[in-house]
Amino acid sequence: MKQILILGGTTEAYELANRVAQIPSYLITTALAGRTQTPKVPMGTVRVGGFGGVDGLVGYLREHQIERLIDATHPFAVEISRNAAIAAAQVGIPHLRLMRPAWEAVSSDRWISVQSLEEARQIIPEIARRVFLSIGRQELSYFIAVKTAWFLMRMVDQPQADVIYPNGKILVQRGPFSRVEERSLLQTYGIEVLVTKNSGGSATYAKLEAARELGLPVVIVQRPVLPDIEMVTTVEAAIAWILGISSRSLVI
Ligand code: NAP
Repeated sequence: MKQILILGGTTEAYELANRVAQIPSYLITTALAGRTQTPKVPMGTVRVGGFGGVDGLVGYLREHQIERLIDATHPFAVEISRNAAIAAAQVGIPHLRLMRPAWEAVSSDRWISVQSLEEARQIIPEIARRVFLSIGRQELSYFIAVKTAWFLMRMVDQPQADVIYPNGKILVQRGPFSRVEERSLLQTYGIEVLVTKNSGGSATYAKLEAARELGLPVVIVQRPVLPDIEMVTTVEAAIAWILGISSRSLVI
């Protein structure tokens, strides 16, 4: 049996694990960081929690005789992607990144492109007082310092009681959300600007369509630079890479 490790936490990682787990002679393990209380659990083996840096990941790859490593983490998960590149090189196993393409603006979009959440925080006071902060839970604290704005924040898990968040309202909801739902949300809360990372993919794209329809600006944080390794953008291409065939000849 061939051991494959998928670094997960994304829809693509979930779909890839479910697809490859059904192929005989492959054993799939998906690694999740453990940030979400009730993650979507794919087929195959799932391990939860960090490895303990590069050394821990190297140890895991060797101990479990992993033959191929697929980094299907979120485009903004910089640390684990760097660790994976170093660890795979040290162990000497093939390593692939599966990453969905970035979103691109269409002509009617009013995007303000920034390089970091820090930059996003700096411009908010100049442009809006009511903000939909759609950046997940972990980095909301960046915006606590912005006292001139009210923030709508959406997250999958109930926030912890002892964590301080920016001034505003927290919605605990799990997507995907439709364009109509997102439009209604923006209108209900009188949102003037949307702040989001350029995550890509279809699951969270509706908020951008809703902002477009309402003519709202979007502060969009562009992706960080990740290690320069072999990359594919679709689950099919990742399966073909695992099987060592062209994705055109894939029939599963
Ligand atoms: P990160 O900053 O790149 O990683 C921080 C540490 O968390 C890593 O050094 C590693 O700990 C552990 N870790 C991260 N992903 C892991 C995984 N898939 N399996 C096992 N350990 C993992 O990561 P992050 O940005 O906090 O993201 C954490 C997870 O959430 C990732 O799986 C990512 O795909 C998902 N996610 C992130 C975002 C985002 O915007 N960043 C959005 C949606 C989903 P050790 O050093 O101890 O190994």
